[in-house]
Amino acid sequence: MKLICIGRNYTKHIKELDNEKPENPVVFIKPDSAILPKEQDFYIPEFSKEVHYEVEVLVKIKKVGKHIDPRFAPGYYDEVSLGIDFTARDLQQKLKEKGLPWEKAKGFDGAAVIGEWLPKSNFKDLNNVGFSLLKNNETVQKASTAQMLWKLDELISYVSRFFTLKKGDIIFTGTPSGVGKIKPNDYLSGILEGKELFSVKIK
Ligand code: ZN
Repeated sequence: MKLICIGRNYTKHIKELDNEKPENPVVFIKPDSAILPKEQDFYIPEFSKEVHYEVEVLVKIKKVGKHIDPRFAPGYYDEVSLGIDFTARDLQQKLKEKGLPWEKAKGFDGAAVIGEWLPKSNFKDLNNVGFSLLKNNETVQKASTAQMLWKLDELISYVSRFFTLKKGDIIFTGTPSGVGKIKPNDYLSGILEGKELFSVKIK
């Protein structure tokens, strides 16, 4: 399976990193080895002095699809969750400056936290779902899927133009503003519509 990640999908986050608003969704992939095993602590990798959390809404693909029309995208997923796209920001910055791929900064072991899955039928409108990230019990990121530049179904359609989507693939739909650095002993937890879907201890 693969983890397909979207960058720059919330206007305020684009501004906080001083990025340009893209014409199309920014897309990158994390390998499945990036998934942080359940109940495991996250160890800050030795090659970075500035790892950032990025909380994101996740969608799990349930069947094979290619060139999916946005109208039919809802037929390709039944479950949603919340996760973290951990990013070695210092390394990413260096790679970006040189125009090199981001993978080392975003695809390293443990860089993908995946929360508990919820049936999409739990939600009245997936394009208006509130979520937040707490660091040491203080809210550091808070947003709604209503603020996405590209909605879930548009993202599924767009990425399926380039990659065949397969059962079990997970889409990370981009982070809102409020990203920041973690340090040892921090404790992160992700809340979707009032329900905690993951928690991670930083080492
Ligand atoms: Zn991200």
